[in-house]
Amino acid sequence: TTPGGAKAKEEKIVVTVRLRPLNKKEQLAKDQVAWDCVDDHTIVFKPPSQERASQPASFVFDKVFDPSSITEAVYEDGVKNVALSALMGINATIFAYGQTSSGKTYTMRGITEKAVNDIYKHIINTPERDFTIRISGLEIYNENVRDLLNSESGRNLKLLDDPEKGTVVEKLVEETASTDQHLRRLINICEAQRQVGETALNDTSSRSHQIIRLNFVDLAGSERASQTHADGARLREGCHINLSLMTLTTVIRKLSVGKRSGHIPYRDSKLTRILQHSLGGNARTAIICTLSPALSHVEQSRNTLYFATRAK
Ligand code: ADP
Ligand code: MG
Repeated sequence: TTPGGAKAKEEKIVVTVRLRPLNKKEQLAKDQVAWDCVDDHTIVFKPPSQERASQPASFVFDKVFDPSSITEAVYEDGVKNVALSALMGINATIFAYGQTSSGKTYTMRGITEKAVNDIYKHIINTPERDFTIRISGLEIYNENVRDLLNSESGRNLKLLDDPEKGTVVEKLVEETASTDQHLRRLINICEAQRQVGETALNDTSSRSHQIIRLNFVDLAGSERASQTHADGARLREGCHINLSLMTLTTVIRKLSVGKRSGHIPYRDSKLTRILQHSLGGNARTAIICTLSPALSHVEQSRNTLYFATRAK
């Protein structure tokens, strides 16, 4: 049997929630913990005072990770099966979704590291096959696509419709990773080139004539998915709608509903165009929703949990 259990193995979309600890800033500000993971599946709103008790208080998911959980557990129980299904020709995508500072990048870094380990373990254990690991990294910022492995001229890249491959990013550099250390170095280069925005690390490998696809996507802060929920503080920050993130939430909601959902607006944003074939069809998706425990962030945390509930 595989870690993650039978259910995680078959589901098209696996949704988990990770609650991080209070950070230093929140502790210094005497912010308080507003959420409690009461078991492996349930997170409840538990405000220090009873004022907000009228709001929905309990959310249930495939898996909930409390603040003491390590990234390894998040990987093993929520991501590993989806990531490794890429080795069997399935398009696999791992997203981190949550407000700014909730732990998306922290979680994604650890998960990428563990997935790289597992992919190379598989390669070593399969000596009868030749593997080629190719990696490309891109960032979408204000709907501009930027190549993270080509900082010189890889800006404002165009999307093209290829009859065989679907949407491709024109002139996106693909490096071939000769070893796991080389792959890690390339991932670090992508990390270093990132600005503030969404990043998709797109790790492609080919086996014989088969291209396999594994995407790691560190999304923009979820507060950018909807204007209606922006409060004063974030408006002062100059927060604006992120078209790719907003479209992605619509696409995922429609995919989770299934065939009855009608038209799926993949073409409405760059991110969803690039990921179209990794989301629909022969594809599996893991979404890790990251949550700040702070009482001061409760509205955004609630929005994240609503998103997570709809994505299931
Ligand atoms: P985001 O990418 O969602 O904006 P980050 O991943 O940068 O947020 O996390 C914000 C801060 O919180 C970072 O300093 C990070 O190290 C810390 N952090 C996030 N998640 C955890 C966690 N589960 N445990 C400990 N520290 C965390
Ligand atoms: Mg981040």
